[in-house]
Amino acid sequence: MVRQPIRAFDYLPKHRRIETAVLGAIRRVLDSGSLILGPEVCSFEQEFAHYAGAEAGIGVNSGTDALTLALQALGVGPGDEVITVANCGVPPVAAIGACGATPRFVDTNAEDHLIDPANLERALSPRTKCILVVHLYGLAAEMNEILDFARQHDLKVVEDCAQAHGSTYRGWHVGCFGDIGCFSFYPTKNLGAYGDGGICVTNDPNLEKRIRMLRFYGFDDERVAVMPGINSRLDELQAAVLRVKLKYLRDDLHERRTIARRYLDGLRGSDLQLPVPMKDREHSYHLFVIATPKRPRIMAALESDGIGYGLHYPVPVHFMEAYQSLGYGPGDLPNTEQAAHSVLSLPLYPGLEAERVDRVISALTSVG
Ligand SMILES: *Cc1c(COP(=O)(O)O)cnc(C)c1O
Repeated sequence: MVRQPIRAFDYLPKHRRIETAVLGAIRRVLDSGSLILGPEVCSFEQEFAHYAGAEAGIGVNSGTDALTLALQALGVGPGDEVITVANCGVPPVAAIGACGATPRFVDTNAEDHLIDPANLERALSPRTKCILVVHLYGLAAEMNEILDFARQHDLKVVEDCAQAHGSTYRGWHVGCFGDIGCFSFYPTKNLGAYGDGGICVTNDPNLEKRIRMLRFYGFDDERVAVMPGINSRLDELQAAVLRVKLKYLRDDLHERRTIARRYLDGLRGSDLQLPVPMKDREHSYHLFVIATPKRPRIMAALESDGIGYGLHYPVPVHFMEAYQSLGYGPGDLPNTEQAAHSVLSLPLYPGLEAERVDRVISALTSVG
């Protein structure tokens, strides 16, 4: 029997279910005569802000731009330091760099790979302006402690929610705990566009206004630039697709959690480190990340069975060539470095059938 390959991520099963609605939305935009900053973006901004429990949303070109513009709106610039983590891929660090500021890394904790608030103090300096919190893999960071620390030291807080659409902390959706929440709509995310996109959400009308200006050349209402800005607009086609997909987000999250529960049940009792369900935080399972010292053997077993996987992330940012000048070295972020060797993300997306999940579980448990 030929076994079908299982991809780590696939948008097609979901696309097939909603194709008619998506094509209808695309046709509506093409017939409207408005492709940039029109009614679709305006409506999507309101609908997504409402979903996340925020007063306002500002659609932008990508999640990375959302982070960059959020930091700039808060006045982060050259000479400032921003505290963040090094196990997040590059985007948050790139955003800090794009503002001319300097990242200061804190180590994560070994259980859930999220920023460890106990390490914040060590990264603090007189130049620290902001904490960029990453809700990694779909689990909210320990916000109460982070917000307390920020208040004590008069720091701004930006939340990177690129992996956390649908993630809650003490019953509230992430993105509204800090000053600004930033989401990505990269196709793999919990809410994915058919291309690039992102959004900032905030409850502060002044920050909303500043981000709106920053994303559009710093223009005021007369189209005169009153601050240096860039072009980072969400386009009408992506906004229209996202409006359709937002309607299905709750179903998609339910499906993600059902798949995650199947993995948890099937792998309980194995020696793999599994995500820990938390009472006060609802995991959105953007990624189902296991950790194991046997990773090379697990990878080989998955590959030989045609099963895709991801590594999020195999090289911590402080080890990357581009960031050597920050001055970090081996041993500076022990949990981050340890996780880079041991984490592995299992296939997970709406439309992934239970039998395939079971095949992944069998492949994993067959490795001694
Ligand atoms: C995907 C991602 C981003 C960036 O999003 P883009 O839309 O690809 O720019 C930022 N932070 C994290 C943690 C991400 O996973």
